[in-house]
Amino acid sequence: MLNIQTLIDDAKCFETVRTLRWPEEVRCVQCGSAAITKQGRDTTQPERQKYRCSDWGR
Ligand SMILES: [Zn+2]
Repeated sequence: MLNIQTLIDDAKCFETVRTLRWPEEVRCVQCGSAAITKQGRDTTQPERQKYRCSDWGR
């Protein structure tokens, strides 16, 4: 279960969102493709993992 304590921590928050959104593997939010590559971290929010879709380059 989610509780406020786990959501306070940004890293855990993003991890939780990722797990809820992609329980098995990360997919492109636009086209649903699993052909994505990691694109480093957000400069202002290092906890955020960036991804690039190989299908259309976003
Ligand atoms: Zn895509």
